[in-house]
Amino acid sequence: MKIGIKTKLMLWYSVLSSLIMAAFFIFIYLIYSRSLLEDLRRSLEADAQTASYETQIMWEAVKLTTDFSQRQTLILIYTEDNRLLFGTPPEHASLPVGMAPPGTYQVGTREESWLVCDMPLFRLQYTGWVRAIKPVAPIQGALHNLLVIMILSLPVFVLVSAVGGFQIAKRAFLPISRMVQTANQIGKGDLSKRIALEGIDDEIGELADTLDEMLDKLEQSFLREKQFANDASHELRTPTAVIMSYAEEALSGEKSAGEYRKSLETILGESKKMKEMISGLLLLARNYERGDSLEFERIDVSLLTEIVLEQIRPACREQDIALSADIQRGVYAEVDQTLLMHILMNLLENAVKYNKPGGSVNASVRRDGAEVVFSVADTGIGMTQEEQEHIFNRFYRSDQAKAGTLGHGLGLAIVRWMVSMHSGSILVKSEPGAGSTFLVRIPIQGPAPPSIGTISQKD
Ligand code: ADP
Repeated sequence: MKIGIKTKLMLWYSVLSSLIMAAFFIFIYLIYSRSLLEDLRRSLEADAQTASYETQIMWEAVKLTTDFSQRQTLILIYTEDNRLLFGTPPEHASLPVGMAPPGTYQVGTREESWLVCDMPLFRLQYTGWVRAIKPVAPIQGALHNLLVIMILSLPVFVLVSAVGGFQIAKRAFLPISRMVQTANQIGKGDLSKRIALEGIDDEIGELADTLDEMLDKLEQSFLREKQFANDASHELRTPTAVIMSYAEEALSGEKSAGEYRKSLETILGESKKMKEMISGLLLLARNYERGDSLEFERIDVSLLTEIVLEQIRPACREQDIALSADIQRGVYAEVDQTLLMHILMNLLENAVKYNKPGGSVNASVRRDGAEVVFSVADTGIGMTQEEQEHIFNRFYRSDQAKAGTLGHGLGLAIVRWMVSMHSGSILVKSEPGAGSTFLVRIPIQGPAPPSIGTISQKD
């Protein structure tokens, strides 16, 4: 059987408070019985003393001025040789013969008992002793009543504390119930639901706020992924459609060898484009693995830049673009070589691709404090402020880029992720028609240890 946490709390609360109450009752009972017995003893001793002073004996006739029966005290007067001169001892009390040592003692059974106090007579002319007796029964009656009240009130108390405990637990767990409710709704697919606890300024309120924040992030990331999948399928549809239409056209009837060749070339071109796009997409999709497989090592980044520059040189020559470099020698940094080469290559390719014939590209590397700064500047088509704001988004291409060059708009999104893997930053300065400069800053000491939320994708 499943016992809810509220019931468990209520049970604990009731058991604990009942135990405390029972212990309190026992304590009260003991204190009360002790004090009643003490009062009885004191009043008995006072009566014995009064009797011992005021007893008058004449020819063995005893006279007492105080009426002790009103005080429920029985007075017995004995001669020196223990002969009873006055009073009748209680029927069932087995009293000791002769005067007991001074002090009070109890005689009788559990059902019927008495307090007894023996004392010598204080009249000089007589020798003898007095015995004062009080029944304990009235005290036992009072204690019995107290016990009954306690026993009867305990279950009432348990009941009240159980109901109270349950109410308290219910109130305390109200926010938790809200959280469970929200989690159920989210589980059914409504990611927009929030716990939204207002006016609860304690640990539970804090937990609810944290969960809400986490849900915000999850929802955003879910929407981003959805958008990514939409964009990817949309972008892949175009080359697929081109391939299909060329293939259908080629198969639709007899064609010349030249026409077949043209169709196949187009199909090959589109397939290459798709392959590139799929590789890019896979790379971006994997960036959520947080680069665990990356290998950071201290390398000469000046040398690495020079190697990449040599690789781009033929393309520059082909497009009549002057390539220059401004490289500080011997700059070392903790980087992933493959990633850094990819970053530089991508920026250089763009600088060539979006350049004008007769234009130039300049690459530079320098150390700036604890960072290495790479820059790739071109004298190409440049970008408006609005375009600059979107170029790092997946699949974004400016209208001018779409019209003039091949591409799929994933390059800079990948570059930005790679820079972030190095705990670096990337920024662009550009003027439409005048050219663009990309600046990448990477810490020399390598990336900061990963922590939750270091990778952020805006689009
Ligand atoms: P792609 O080059 O495949 O279009 P990128 O992600 O590399 O994708 O670039 C995104 C967009 O940013 C480009 O389409 C272009 O509009 C713009 N861009 C990138 N680099 C440059 C540059 N050096 N000069 C002008 N525009 C650029």
